[in-house]
Amino acid sequence: MKIFSIFGDPVSHSRSPLMHNSVFKNLNYPACYTRTHLKDGTKLKETFFSLGLSGANVTVPHKEAAFNACDEVRGFAQTVGVVNTLINENGKLIGYNTDADGFMYAIEEFNNIKKILILGAGGTAKALAARFKQEDIEVSVINRSQKRLPFFDDLNCKTYTWDTFKISEYDLVVNTTSAGLKDELLPAPQELIDQILDATQYAADAIYGKLTPFLKQAKEKNITYKNGADMLLGQGVLANELFVKAQLDKKDIKYHMQKSFLL
Ligand code: NDP
Repeated sequence: MKIFSIFGDPVSHSRSPLMHNSVFKNLNYPACYTRTHLKDGTKLKETFFSLGLSGANVTVPHKEAAFNACDEVRGFAQTVGVVNTLINENGKLIGYNTDADGFMYAIEEFNNIKKILILGAGGTAKALAARFKQEDIEVSVINRSQKRLPFFDDLNCKTYTWDTFKISEYDLVVNTTSAGLKDELLPAPQELIDQILDATQYAADAIYGKLTPFLKQAKEKNITYKNGADMLLGQGVLANELFVKAQLDKKDIKYHMQKSFLL
């Protein structure tokens, strides 16, 4: 029996154990997935090996500590310096990042995405912008304040604050702000949101567990949208594929993980 876990602080809210156990149980894969409340990120590696884990996920605030703890980091995690999936490969800790790829997976059914506007400039925005750039997508970023925008200037994104914003046409607009998470706020003033939604084909939100005010307005305007659950599902499916070393069918993983959202 292989054991997997999620590390975080807090970690009690995490849906990862439900998601992964639903896959393991229904596909008869001999593994179980638990949660580990870790306060000190520097203890990640020793805790991982002392628990005898085969793999793990890492959530807030330990994703950068996870990057530093790895013996080897592979793929997109190298670009962003952030790791959310750990694999025990013959006693070595290998790190991956499935967050941004999970988002790409979530929007796979959106056709022909060439221009994206990101609302917000935090950690999620950084990972997504860097990933979109790898696909040669034109990326614009709008944030309420200036201080986090230089990272996106360096990536060759167009950057704006609310005051300097110039509207364009977009294929997709993604809300990565925390506006709407614990409140009913829009990610930008109503007038800007109206302009932005009228100029996009698709909308997405990183927040899950509710229809945010941003997505409510997208829905009212008949825009096709994805909520954060699709992103959560995408990163989970890709992490699970790494856990089972691609021995299970990706479609089956997705099906059983998605079913766990109803629990
Ligand atoms: P950060 O704290 O790194 O960034 C938050 C961003 O939101 C900043 O740009 C901040 O602007 C902006 N912001 C905060 N409050 C408001 C507001 N009231 N109005 C406008 N802008 C605001 O957060 P993360 O990037 O880590 O997370 C962002 C969101 O994504 C969270 O809601 C999180 O739950 C969700 N998330 C979902 C995932 C999933 O799998 N679905 C995965 C990861 C995150 P400023 O720079 O001015 O402070």
